[in-house]
Amino acid sequence: MPFCRHHCGYCDFAVVAGQDGRAESYLDALARELAALDSPRPVDTIFIGGGTPTHLPAPLLGRLLGLLRQWLPLAPGGEWSIESTPDSLGDDTVAVLKAGGVTRVSIGVQSFQDRLLAALDRRHHAADIAPAVERVRAAIPNVSLDLIFGVPGQSPADWVGDLSRAIALEPSHLSCYGLTYEPGTPLTKERNAGQVTPVIDEAEREMFVTADRMLGAAGYEHYEVSNYARPGFHCRHNATYWANEPYFGFGLGAARYLDGRRESNTRRLDEYIARLAAGRSAVVQSEQLDAADRARETMSVQMRRAAGIAKDEFADRTGQDFDAMFGPALKELVGLGLMTDEAGRVRFTLDGWCVADSALENLWAASLPAGPTMPAS
Ligand code: SF4
Repeated sequence: MPFCRHHCGYCDFAVVAGQDGRAESYLDALARELAALDSPRPVDTIFIGGGTPTHLPAPLLGRLLGLLRQWLPLAPGGEWSIESTPDSLGDDTVAVLKAGGVTRVSIGVQSFQDRLLAALDRRHHAADIAPAVERVRAAIPNVSLDLIFGVPGQSPADWVGDLSRAIALEPSHLSCYGLTYEPGTPLTKERNAGQVTPVIDEAEREMFVTADRMLGAAGYEHYEVSNYARPGFHCRHNATYWANEPYFGFGLGAARYLDGRRESNTRRLDEYIARLAAGRSAVVQSEQLDAADRARETMSVQMRRAAGIAKDEFADRTGQDFDAMFGPALKELVGLGLMTDEAGRVRFTLDGWCVADSALENLWAASLPAGPTMPAS
């Protein structure tokens, strides 16, 4: 759901702020897109992201959940996640989520310090967080918190404070993302103009290692580069992405991966609504991946997991030999202590996870010297 209370300065998602009056038309369009399925498709997991789906007024949120129940019925024992913010989880919203069938709520906390929330251009306050977590947990026990490190003005000690307060709230799952400067965002423009000073790489690395250490000591398994879970609480939906398995996607800017084809919808709200009102598809990009491209993508998403990649499973899934595609670059990364290659399984070391994006680019590039660059993950 693309609607947010405010467009945060670091965010490059397909979102709109100050256009809440269009939410009903958007849901009409989404209903048309879902109806193109012709018949309901049972699924094991659903993830409603955005945007801030819980920013919708309760009646519209209820309509959204009803549409999904109608077209994408959740299998028994399935996982249904929704993204939210601490300031969009009032009693009425939480009641709609519970009644609608949501089983897991992810809350974009980002920091417990108002100074850092201001640096991120967020609209909620630290005081909003604990009451929101408690309200949700009373209805839906499976709660995940998102935190951001590497925020301008954030010291390693600030990060320890944020992690401590997150642990004290006892979520079942935590996602810890390093702040990224996406092209064209207000934050990136401020950095380029010298108005914002990024945290230095060494401090950011220290924060990543601190999260691994503190969350590990608190009983959270570091199961993906940015994700930690109590036993039994891995995000099953994201595991589908990381395994590079097929998935549907609906809504503004949504991506889907079916039968080896990647498609994505328009990111422009006007166009999305107009296309569906005219009975047209919202898809603006479509690419059929060949076997080698699928293998490269599989490598780039699976490698981010703590489990890494078993070479025999990779061969079974992709029809490609891992060493033949990535061998020389892999050897180099192993030599640098960034990866291990033991007993037929390849994975990142903690040092390697700190530089996962550039290491994956090296692997990708080595497999296709004159080919396309690796897509953002
Ligand atoms: S609330 Fe989340 S999705 Fe919305 S603008 Fe801020 S960061 Fe982006």
